[in-house]
Amino acid sequence: MKDKFFVTSPIYYVNDVPHIGHAYTTIIAAVLAREAALRGKEVFFLTGTDEHGQKIEQAAASRGETPAVYAEKISAKFREMWDYFGIKYTRFIRTTDADHKAGVQAAFEKMWQNGDIYKGEFEGHYCVSCEAFWTDTQLMDGELCPDCGKATTILKEENYFFKLSKYQDRLLEWYASDENLILPKSRKNEVVRFAQGGLQDLSITRTTFEWGVKLPAIASDPKHIIYVWLDALMNYVTALGYGTGGKNMDFWAADYHIIGKDILRFHAVYWPAFLMSLNLALPKRIAAHGWWTRDGAKMSKSKGNVINPREVADAYSLDAFSYFMLRDVPFGQDGDFAQKALVDRINGDLANDLGNLLNRLLGMAEKYFALAIKAVNLPRFGEEKKQTDAIIEGLAPLFESLQFHRYLEELWRVFTIGNKAINDFKPWEKMKTGDSDQVAELLVFVANLLAKGAILLAPIMPSKCAAIAAALGIAINAETRKNLIEQGGWIANFTLTKRDPLFARVEALLLPEAPNIAAESSVAEKSLASATLQNCVSIDDFAKVAIKVGTILSAKKVEKSAKLLLLSVDLGEGGARQIVSGISEFYEPEAIVGAQVCVIANLKPAKIMGIESEGMILAAKDKNSLKLIRPESLTENGTLVK
Ligand SMILES: [Zn+2]
Repeated sequence: MKDKFFVTSPIYYVNDVPHIGHAYTTIIAAVLAREAALRGKEVFFLTGTDEHGQKIEQAAASRGETPAVYAEKISAKFREMWDYFGIKYTRFIRTTDADHKAGVQAAFEKMWQNGDIYKGEFEGHYCVSCEAFWTDTQLMDGELCPDCGKATTILKEENYFFKLSKYQDRLLEWYASDENLILPKSRKNEVVRFAQGGLQDLSITRTTFEWGVKLPAIASDPKHIIYVWLDALMNYVTALGYGTGGKNMDFWAADYHIIGKDILRFHAVYWPAFLMSLNLALPKRIAAHGWWTRDGAKMSKSKGNVINPREVADAYSLDAFSYFMLRDVPFGQDGDFAQKALVDRINGDLANDLGNLLNRLLGMAEKYFALAIKAVNLPRFGEEKKQTDAIIEGLAPLFESLQFHRYLEELWRVFTIGNKAINDFKPWEKMKTGDSDQVAELLVFVANLLAKGAILLAPIMPSKCAAIAAALGIAINAETRKNLIEQGGWIANFTLTKRDPLFARVEALLLPEAPNIAAESSVAEKSLASATLQNCVSIDDFAKVAIKVGTILSAKKVEKSAKLLLLSVDLGEGGARQIVSGISEFYEPEAIVGAQVCVIANLKPAKIMGIESEGMILAAKDKNSLKLIRPESLTENGTLVK
């Protein structure tokens, strides 16, 4: 029977559309799921949405919608995002699912029967935003929520309580039992301190709203709703069938709960206490990551600097984006998204180190051996092979403790060994002296490095690694992983397939830069519908740009430039404008004389290769082609485009 592996993202609260933080958490969970599958395990990958609570009830009401309709809309956005990203979860659970609600009620009943729930009077400082009660000592400035900083209100109600205090000692024992229980390790101290400070019983029902799971019949108290956190945390077992037959409960306990650092206490204190009460096993790893900023600034809708993860993936590829997030930021620390840093990773690590190694291999294999390479034996690269084996052996603990930045850094040393071997060995000289067997050995060695690298990188960059595997003629699956990684095997011959470069170098930023936060005046909070429109310009800003129709009178290539044409364009001004345009790779000069084009007429003149350019021609450029933007039919020169 296969080993089972259970990994979860949090279930996302439907008060916000998916942003980079959600993408980061889910991508990490997906990476773990893919890796476990490659190790031959049977994987259950759970994600979903948390849909109950007062905040959702209020948000729906303010839009004139029922909570169910509102929650469905936002929940769908998460499913769309993961589908778009090719993230294959086993189940997308919603707390509004019937089996989840039944499971939560079953859990409440079990805790009740175990004597862990009692009714009492509760008065406390309540934060509506976080749906949490705080004690006097926890409040900031005597009245503000310590998590979100908003004002709290005093709430007094009759409530059911969970005997959290009863589990304090067992929790502390549990924290001490495994040093990797809470990742990063630095976060564990916070949790231990919190528990040592004394755990008070937890109010686990509310009467202030209705959008949630009702108490089970055993309580016969219909006006109470189960506290959203008890409701939400239970998803990790109701998804496996807890309370409804337990079909997949053999996946429990979770190998990893991946969460954001703001919800660590709920996962590391309340959740295991609930599990203890239910006599269920405790999770093996709880891993809390940090926040993302953009160019060093906090992201917010009002600042207009929120990154849409989908736009980044569209512009730079999801694989490159995932690589950047995992390579650039040590897990658990706060990370900064800067396009320049992403582009540097693409051009350096991906295009230069990895992509170029594959290019060099394919280029030489084609030139010297018609793409079929076979090694007689590989004694010559013994030292390099030993180094490679040692690096690969050291990778597993880095991955298991989620030190992806170190994992990737180490893995890249393997590609460096390959590039260095080519440089040192100088196969082009060996070919001249007739040592083609030795060159074949080198290429087989390099192909092995790429094969091993692709398998180890595949959980993070699945599409690019599938492309590498196709070029090498290998499959990425549990069997090849076992042969090449676990057993340290080396393949003796390859039949390669030529392909385009794996990563194109990025010459300029592909997305608009974030607005300058300092200069930003306060912009009203955008509605949900327009939340994805970023970096907006006003109609007044747009009106400053004068786009005019003109006719190209003459065109010639700029000397010593592959890309530039020198054009003269009639914009209906009496004379002609001189414009330097980067379209030479796509248009022959003769072919565009007489063509009408759209020109930015009030662009500040600039010198390009020493030639003054007095405007810019508009064109649409995609990966492979460029097309001039032209009026549909003949239009008077100088006509304004609006
Ligand atoms: Zn709060």
